[in-house]
Amino acid sequence: MPVELRKGGLHVSGTPLWLDARRKSELSFVSHAHTDHIARHERVIATAATLRIMEHRLGELPAKLPVPYHRPFKLGDLDVELMPAGHVLGSAQIRVTRADGHRIVYTGDIGFEPSATAEPASMPECDTLVLESTFGMPRFRFPPKEKVVDEVEQWARRALSRGVRPILYAYSLGKGQEIIHQLHARGLKICAHPSIHDVSMLYSELGVPMHVRRFEGEFDEGEIGVFPPFGRSPALKNVHPKTTAVLTGWALEPWAARRYGADIAFPMSDHADFPALMRCAKESGAREVITVHGFAKELAQALQKEGVFARAITQTVQMELPLSGDIRSQSELPL
Ligand SMILES: [Zn+2]
Repeated sequence: MPVELRKGGLHVSGTPLWLDARRKSELSFVSHAHTDHIARHERVIATAATLRIMEHRLGELPAKLPVPYHRPFKLGDLDVELMPAGHVLGSAQIRVTRADGHRIVYTGDIGFEPSATAEPASMPECDTLVLESTFGMPRFRFPPKEKVVDEVEQWARRALSRGVRPILYAYSLGKGQEIIHQLHARGLKICAHPSIHDVSMLYSELGVPMHVRRFEGEFDEGEIGVFPPFGRSPALKNVHPKTTAVLTGWALEPWAARRYGADIAFPMSDHADFPALMRCAKESGAREVITVHGFAKELAQALQKEGVFARAITQTVQMELPLSGDIRSQSELPL
């Protein structure tokens, strides 16, 4: 197997290189800075944006190798290249070309929907594709993002016109910035929880201008709140009247709003949906697809049915709840 699942995560066989290792390692590629993908490795390969956000979350890192997209470099006898993954700002796929010419791509979390705040994903041409499968079930087909943002805008404007405060639940890295950017572009005012605001300021620093006020206990007139999911911000207890909505790919499931403690759920995701994952697997040209995370078995089966040589390797390690990262497997769906 070109990659193997070890206790600490995925590892490129026969090399020192880990892929999004979950615990401290000597050398790991970090695809993006969601908390379930980062650790204080001795040496980190990532984009400059990912390293900046990682250091915001973990403090200064000992040895980091910032790598621009599409700039191949040598790592021992491997050729290594990072490519955009379209998931959050700075998110990357990695292509490792072994001395025998075999090309392995690990996608990390990947999204193909156009984003205002993340670099558009490249198609990962390779021989072995290690593909994330968060939404790897046929029932996950997301509507176009533009349409979802239209619905969010209408929902927010309706609430404001009735004197009700609209509160959106979105992860503090990625979805939070995307919805802030989209709603600002539509003339709305946003006030965000400090965790979301502070990452937004990093986005500005990294070249994606964000217009958002930091929540300090009070809203101004006409403002929409953007907060982390699950309504865990005590400050919101004093906000009346309010209506809440969560932005998540799981919105396609009937239980989503209730489990996130929201009144309504909108299907906005920074992950590829099932048709996009299938297309990615086929267009990559890979002779072998290894599915990881989420509905890995289901996606591998769907690919096999269409004649793609695919198999799943599944994580058994405990991952954190999707409060600050994102949902990774069925066993971690929010309750
Ligand atoms: Zn992620």
